[in-house]
Amino acid sequence: MTKEPHILVVGSVNMDLVVRCPRVPAPGETLAGSDFRLVPGGKGANQAVAAARLGAPAALIGRVGRDGFGDALLEGLRSNGVDTTHVGRDDEAASGVALILVEPGGENSIVVAPGANAALTPEHLEAAGGAFAWADAVLVQLEVPVATVERALTLARRGGALAVLDAGPARELPAAVLEAADIVSPNETEARALTGVAVTDAGGAEQAAERLREMGARTVVLKLGGQGAYLAGEKERRHVPAFAVEPVDTTAAGDAFTAALAVAVASGKPLPEAVRTANAAGAAATLRFGAQPSMPTPEEIAQVMQGGLAG
Ligand code: ADP
Repeated sequence: MTKEPHILVVGSVNMDLVVRCPRVPAPGETLAGSDFRLVPGGKGANQAVAAARLGAPAALIGRVGRDGFGDALLEGLRSNGVDTTHVGRDDEAASGVALILVEPGGENSIVVAPGANAALTPEHLEAAGGAFAWADAVLVQLEVPVATVERALTLARRGGALAVLDAGPARELPAAVLEAADIVSPNETEARALTGVAVTDAGGAEQAAERLREMGARTVVLKLGGQGAYLAGEKERRHVPAFAVEPVDTTAAGDAFTAALAVAVASGKPLPEAVRTANAAGAAATLRFGAQPSMPTPEEIAQVMQGGLAG
């Protein structure tokens, strides 16, 4: 395998509309907010930008509307070095948006309108068949229809690429989807939605990972926030501790983690080492505000590993 594997992401592209507010308004109430920001997001786009920033050639299969947000989102992806040849424009649906209210304590309340993301079908993947032949790893999340997720993973494995499923946002999944992936990576909330097991301590992580393997997942990498990650593969079971950082904003830490995991495994790194690198990428992503702007470079990841990067 080459040192810089080709990463194909199949997933969502959203514009995040972020407003600070004193509290979430009650039904029928109008409140004054402040500090409005437009921030490019969507788990698919975030992970494609993360892979590109790590130096991997990255392409995205996705869908945006024929609107101003769509123009801005495409431009943002391109300026980050992501190949957008297979990001289609939908004639009917609007670009995906997330309306995000940020309360003084930092708590976020979010409404996502998927728009064009919901119109990404398995047929669009067939039409982009060459991208699957090009890819060394295919990275998929759950902000596009499940039938599309399953087809993407199947096409990946059929083409000999590593098939990685980031199991966010939280939802239940049919076993066929878990079986279609080489690696399934949920965070604590997502693991609970998939298995019913509460992941509050080391025992919970082990139990949830075992349950996911019984449900058909081959390799499970559980993201445990400030606790790092838990790896359950064919050969190994182990907790991989987090790197100590002082987080500024944990948005999209999971996206940085999964993209770095895919790049590292597709580069031929052994799983425990790849998970350690992913922990460093997730930690590094907590040191800057926002989703795509916080995706780390290899230098930043190396600095976190050496214990020298603060927020
Ligand atoms: P998500 O962003 O999906 O909720 P997590 O919060 O579990 O996912 O974060 C993803 C990864 O980022 C973690 O597995 C860990 O490696 C890293 N990470 C997140 N928060 C911290 C933290 N406070 N300190 C160190 N590493 C962190």
